[in-house]
Amino acid sequence: MATTLMRNTAPKEHPGRYYGFMSAVAVAAIVGAGYTAARSGAFEGGLLSVPFAFWLVAGLALIAEFRPTRWGGLWMSPIASIYLVYVLATMITWGFLPALVVQSGAIVLLSVQIQSSAWRMIFNVSQQGFALCVAWNVWNAIAPSPAWSGSALQLLAVFAAGTAWTLTSSALVAVRQSLRTGIGWGDLTLQWLRSEWALRATQVAIAPILATAAMSSWWLVAASAIPIFSVYRILQTAADREREADHDPLTGLLNRKGFQQVVDGKLADAAETETAVAVLILDLDRFADVNSALGHEVGDQLLVELAKRFTTDIPKGKKIAHLGGDEFAFVWSELDGMTDPMECAREIRARLDAPIVLGDVSLEVDGSVGIAVFPDDGADFQTLFRHADIAMYESKQRAGSYTRYGAEFDHHSPERLHLLGDLRRALDHPDAPGVNLFYQPQVRLVDGEVVGAEALLRYSHPERGVVNPAEIIETAEHSSVMRMLTERVVDIALRQLRSWRESGYDLRMAVNVSVRDLQSPEFTDFLTERIDAYGVNAKRLQLEITESALMADPRRVLQNVQRLSDLGVGISLDDFGTGFSSMQHLRRLPVTEIKIDKSFVTTLCDDPDNAAIVNTVIDLGRALDVEVVAEGVEDEGVRKQLEDWGCHAGQGWHFAKPMSADAFERWMADQRKKN
Ligand code: C2E
Ligand code: MG
Ligand code: MG
Repeated sequence: MATTLMRNTAPKEHPGRYYGFMSAVAVAAIVGAGYTAARSGAFEGGLLSVPFAFWLVAGLALIAEFRPTRWGGLWMSPIASIYLVYVLATMITWGFLPALVVQSGAIVLLSVQIQSSAWRMIFNVSQQGFALCVAWNVWNAIAPSPAWSGSALQLLAVFAAGTAWTLTSSALVAVRQSLRTGIGWGDLTLQWLRSEWALRATQVAIAPILATAAMSSWWLVAASAIPIFSVYRILQTAADREREADHDPLTGLLNRKGFQQVVDGKLADAAETETAVAVLILDLDRFADVNSALGHEVGDQLLVELAKRFTTDIPKGKKIAHLGGDEFAFVWSELDGMTDPMECAREIRARLDAPIVLGDVSLEVDGSVGIAVFPDDGADFQTLFRHADIAMYESKQRAGSYTRYGAEFDHHSPERLHLLGDLRRALDHPDAPGVNLFYQPQVRLVDGEVVGAEALLRYSHPERGVVNPAEIIETAEHSSVMRMLTERVVDIALRQLRSWRESGYDLRMAVNVSVRDLQSPEFTDFLTERIDAYGVNAKRLQLEITESALMADPRRVLQNVQRLSDLGVGISLDDFGTGFSSMQHLRRLPVTEIKIDKSFVTTLCDDPDNAAIVNTVIDLGRALDVEVVAEGVEDEGVRKQLEDWGCHAGQGWHFAKPMSADAFERWMADQRKKN
């Protein structure tokens, strides 16, 4: 598939500056070459009169470029070249112009091979031509004698010339790269030199040996090719390894290890200056679909294109990593200019807005971002990274686009683990205090008759006091404690149901069950056994299930729910309206009741949208012949409205708050007296 290579593209924002710079380099090279050629003097008798050894050197330089080794890097040249050794040897043996010819020939050959654009080829011929001018002038300034003799001064001059060549060429490439990507050219030059210096130094060091060989026998030149290529291969492999160790070979971005090194550096600076650092993780949505539908090759191309998007025009100091698969990570610090971590996330998301076009396929990409900020959300890399990951999952679950870490998302935070441990201990002993139920009445709207109660968990922690049940469920749901908890709740609720019956109250008990309970058939077995043991009527028990529970593993859950329903137990869809695909569930499940979520009910009199929703759900219940219970009835206005619309029952503070078993019985006795 033909894609435009990034290194061949100009930045969209300022193409003028970019092409202007390349043109300026070309002009400088022409002027510099003219000047240097005039100073160095051409070959006497023309190029054809040069010895065979020269042609051999030139030929080897060109052959060397036939199989260039590719770098994975995105930033600088994707190719590590070896022709510098031949170019320098030619320069010190036969002069500037032959060296320029060899060098330009090698670059043209290389450019054709790696499919560079004409612009880029011209730029490379120019920048390296200019670097060669600088090198020759340095060489000439130090060792003006034209003939190569291998003297110490000449050797020094070669090293100086090679260094000048490398510095000039790297700086010019870095400026061009900087104009395209917005990264500082100083950083780029350093990055380049760090990975290339050994290779360059070796080439510079071998050049005088090759020159000496060329002066004495062309056989030696031919023979020297073998060690030169071997040394080159070894260095190349070493450099590749070094690069691979902290870079991702596919995108050229940092990998996790490289990312950690960068983040550690930024955290150290931030700790000293008491500034913030934002760590962000992006996970693409439905990337697996792209892979399975279009193949892994397209998936890889998509990742490479995304990497380019993320790295184009990024502010100085912002670093990006590809963590593998469809995950990217970003770090930016206040010291680098970051002001708002959320803005960072928005910026990342904005880069996903336009579809990615790969050949004739256009792909929409979307993703979820998690954010963790030093020092509030963690003091070291491991914690920040884990917290950003947790926030990313939270984002994904909420189908939101970005979320900052909050302790409440973390099921494995030290506090949560403590809570879980304490809860497990409380559940280990049947009579240990702490785990209890409160009961909230459900009232028939037409006549105010109490028809049932919902059992609501109350856990009193020895140090924290009463813990929010939603937090307990969230914590326990990811562990085996959930089953213990549900079994305890069912046990207490059924015992209470029997006790009410004995006191003459013919009530129905609603018990909440979680996702985990419904995933195994054991819960049904347990319930059957308990209903029998307490001798209560299964029809008096109502299980409240949320839609998220059904979504988790619909087939298995459905089977278990069906078995529960066969027992005679009522099934109520809790928090109705807040989940997805409610209609489907209503059709497929043996539902006996819908419980409209309190978020619609409470504000029903002031919010016409909520009023419409509640009214419609009541109609729906009537049409499907299932009861409708409204939760969150807080005042008489709402109660009246629900009654008028034909809602069967209500639950909420207007009737009573959840209360202990004793309080509930007193309240029931009061109600009896009133009626
Ligand atoms: P839920 O099943 O939707 O329970 C109703 C929640 O609404 C209860 O919160 C109740 O106290 C509250 N509520 C009742 N009337 C009103 C009202 O008029 N206005 C307002 N604003 N709220 C009202 P609670 O007790 O904090 O329970 C929260 C959630 O925790 C429950 O939501 C349920 O999903 C879960 N939960 C509670 N107990 C258990 C349990 O034993 N097992 C499982 N799996 N989940 C439980
Ligand atoms: Mg409930
Ligand atoms: Mg509810």
